[in-house]
Amino acid sequence: MSETKYIFVTGGVVSSLGKGIVAASLGKLLQARGYKVTIQKFDPYINVDPGTLNPYEHGECYVTMDGHEADLDLGHYERFLNVPTTKANNITTGRIYQSVINKERRGDYLGKTVQVVPHITDEIKRNIMLLGTKSNFDFVITEIGGTVGDIESLPYIESVRQLRWELGKNCLCVHLTYVPYVAAAKEVKTKPTQHSVKALQEMGVQPEILVLRTERELEKSICKKVALFCNVEEDAVIQSYDVKSIFEVPIVLAKQKMDEIILRKMGMQVGKEPEMTDWKEFLNRMSTAEKSVKIALVGKYVELPDAYKSINESLLQAATYHYRKLDLNFIHSEKINDENVAEQLSSMDGIVIAPGFGQRGIEGKFVAIKYARENNKPTFGICLGMQCMVIEYARNVLGLQDANSTEMDSKTPHKVIDLMEEQKNLVNMGGSMRLGAYDCKILKGSLAFKIYGKELVQERHRHRYEFNNEYKTQFEENGMKCTGINPETGLVEVIEIPKLKWFLGVQFHPEYNSTVVNPNPLFMSFVEAAINT
Ligand code: GLN
Repeated sequence: MSETKYIFVTGGVVSSLGKGIVAASLGKLLQARGYKVTIQKFDPYINVDPGTLNPYEHGECYVTMDGHEADLDLGHYERFLNVPTTKANNITTGRIYQSVINKERRGDYLGKTVQVVPHITDEIKRNIMLLGTKSNFDFVITEIGGTVGDIESLPYIESVRQLRWELGKNCLCVHLTYVPYVAAAKEVKTKPTQHSVKALQEMGVQPEILVLRTERELEKSICKKVALFCNVEEDAVIQSYDVKSIFEVPIVLAKQKMDEIILRKMGMQVGKEPEMTDWKEFLNRMSTAEKSVKIALVGKYVELPDAYKSINESLLQAATYHYRKLDLNFIHSEKINDENVAEQLSSMDGIVIAPGFGQRGIEGKFVAIKYARENNKPTFGICLGMQCMVIEYARNVLGLQDANSTEMDSKTPHKVIDLMEEQKNLVNMGGSMRLGAYDCKILKGSLAFKIYGKELVQERHRHRYEFNNEYKTQFEENGMKCTGINPETGLVEVIEIPKLKWFLGVQFHPEYNSTVVNPNPLFMSFVEAAINT
């Protein structure tokens, strides 16, 4: 295929309809037909990237291989497509303006007045096209964050309008809206959809495909009505009703031939319907598994499951491959103490100690780790979780009273976790952590080596603090081994206690690197150990 095709996914009526899932599902269907697909997300906020946002604002911060702190939708894209994303896959208004302002300061605009149209819209368009022909993708799917009609999404919709004009048949717009059921009237309502399409039309964009999000399946007559009012062909009104798992969405869309309709509209050969055997097998396991595996996730954002999105998904993948339902229990690290820890954790098959920042909830993590270690429960510490395993061991086994991370206590007498050298003189907090994929050399004979089955692995990072190598010998002589080391810097990436069944901590984030068809081996092994307790 010579020319890249561009598909835009916009949203209307309300947010949180799952545009990311629809974009990822559509990507999956096109990929299953043999096309090279990438998905990007434009976020209309002013932050340059979501790295400085707290999880209450936007859920988890996802990290790409090339070290970009990204929106959590990129995690969906990777989990669905099993293709890594990069910095180019997530752009914010802040980044667009930053780039335009830098150009203006350099004098690139040669005395012109710099304006939203054409300068901001040109920069948006440049970033959309960047992923296309240059990177050899057949399809670039671009999800526009926010809702049509928001002040902040205007320049994006305007860019879509211009690109449709410039790209002709190589460009298409999918609009996702909401069809609510009004219980008192016992009716579903299409008016919000009509209004939202009208808003899009007023901005010069006529969507070719509508995806209606609904709680229950809609009657054909409803889709027919929407088609009539919105200038969309009847078969191009697709519904996305609630399903048990987001991974069923591609199947729901395929049943209505969404991919076929798109190919047809873009003047492409339709070809044979793909089998998607692996995907269906995964779904089948998920729905037929009877026994469950009970996992505790100890962290401080329990009321906010999106904060640990990729961890939840990685555990779900691993449980499904082991033919188990995932029984995931969020344990609030601020509410766990010596008195209630047994009650909260004794029935768990495995315990995950979550990543995080700052002091809040940290003491509860130590209590949970001590309990897990003394009761030989499969335990998996991720980033801050690993650092907490180290601190707990220092305090309770090595007898280093008040050992801590300098993140929590800068005056601790035992800095077993300390700020990395290159972090010491930093002024800017944005994008300045140790980010992205780094090599890790795994020690032969360790649990980590048994799991990975190889000596060199790459995993993604997002942290400022590290294991303090001055204490390494002391830990190793007393039963906690450092079994993964960065070959260039000597930074400790993996720790484990070999005499326990499965007790391992990683400084990196293996959850960013776990997809439906390629689950991360650490999660697979941890869940297996949890099942076998
Ligand atoms: N706060 C710790 C650090 O910066 C851990 C970060 C994390 O868990 N992602 O090193």
